Amino acid sequence: MRVSCRLYVEVTDPEDLLTLDFNALPQPLFVMGGGSNLLFTGDFPGTVLRMANQGRSVMPGSTGHLVVRVAAGVVFDDFCAWAAAEGLWGPENLSLIPGEVGASAVQNIGAYGVEAKDIIDTVHAFDRQERRFVDIPSADCGYGYRTSLFKTDWKGRYIIIAVTFRLSTVPQPKLDYGGVRKAIERRIEGMGSETYATLGLLEGGAHLWEGRRSQSDRRVSDPIPSIPDENLTPQFIRDTIIGIREQKLPDPKEIGSAGSFFCNPVIDREHFERIVSIAKAENGPDYEVPHYDVGEKVKVPAAWMIDQCGFKGMRLGGAQVYPKQPLVIVNATGAATPEEIVALERRVIGTIREKYGIELHPEVEHV
Ligand SMILES: Cc1cc2nc3c(=O)[nH]c(=O)nc-3n(C[C@H](O)[C@H](O)[C@H](O)COP(=O)(O)OP(=O)(O)OC[C@H]3O[C@@H](n4cnc5c(N)ncnc54)[C@H](O)[C@@H]3O)c2cc1C
Repeated sequence: MRVSCRLYVEVTDPEDLLTLDFNALPQPLFVMGGGSNLLFTGDFPGTVLRMANQGRSVMPGSTGHLVVRVAAGVVFDDFCAWAAAEGLWGPENLSLIPGEVGASAVQNIGAYGVEAKDIIDTVHAFDRQERRFVDIPSADCGYGYRTSLFKTDWKGRYIIIAVTFRLSTVPQPKLDYGGVRKAIERRIEGMGSETYATLGLLEGGAHLWEGRRSQSDRRVSDPIPSIPDENLTPQFIRDTIIGIREQKLPDPKEIGSAGSFFCNPVIDREHFERIVSIAKAENGPDYEVPHYDVGEKVKVPAAWMIDQCGFKGMRLGGAQVYPKQPLVIVNATGAATPEEIVALERRVIGTIREKYGIELHPEVEHV
């Protein structure tokens, strides 16, 4: 279903924000990136503003690092692709996350053990309150799991115009999350005694060896009986992550979704033990509940709970819990209404609350 807004403003030069008469625009004002984490529940009565500025500038950083300022309107994955091709470490695990650079700093996007905050140095923004540009160090942005002050206390105040990332020139592979190491090992096994050069063809990723190679990259002609971690390249990891994501997440070009619909809840240990008892009673005494320790607390995958409640593949009108990844709600028919999506969301939340005593919170922003 299509929705519309009263006025749509696209800004290609951040300096224009200084002269823009915000009070003259239809209210309210909503700043949008690529729209990949939004659910418009109806027509928007005000102005949608989008930063469409492009470009990046690279500066030397501290030893072993490089800093790069990237415009808010750049597609985040284009930035990941550039960094990997340059042999720079940091964003490779965030490959293929839809959306733009500006939003990455709002959302603190994350995947496979890495969050945007790990590589963000400074956020550059227009302060609507003070009508001036500001540079906000990452440490002041209140970053947490998929959140920041831009989403909470500062909501509506700042328009992000660019983000400076701090990338490493020395290898920093992060493989111990979400099956990344296994996927890499499988790729390496699959390559047998082939050379790296054939990898791109085997995996359909012809871009493997494009771009300048860093010192940490191997030569195309090297044999690969085994690859120790320190020899992995950002490009290799990026391609592996892309392979994993393509298998389990809907391609936004083919099927509409807003990615993970719910945040993974973090609960105390006692609560977790109650969930373990429920799961063992249902699945047998040897059953293990997937979880990640977060300090004293425990993060339980919302996808697991949704699956355990039998929602995988469930449809409500055109809305569907994605069969391959139950954390995602998709517009299965292309004609789902916002009401159908919200009704399915409510049903999931209500069932999980009843069964596990956990309140799921949507990651997707409802506008
Ligand atoms: C298939 C799929 C897979 C996904 N996988 C992941 C994943 O693995 N990890 C993850 O973290 N997310 C994931 N997402 C969610 C989404 O990609 C991120 O939330 C992304 O950051 C959204 O970017 P966007 O440009 O589309 O922002 P939008 O959805 O347009 O906006 C998101 C928020 O940022 C604000 N915003 C946007 N630009 C600016 C700006 N310039 N200044 C101020 N505020 C701004 C908006 O107001 C809004 O609050 C996925 C989404 C899809 C569809």
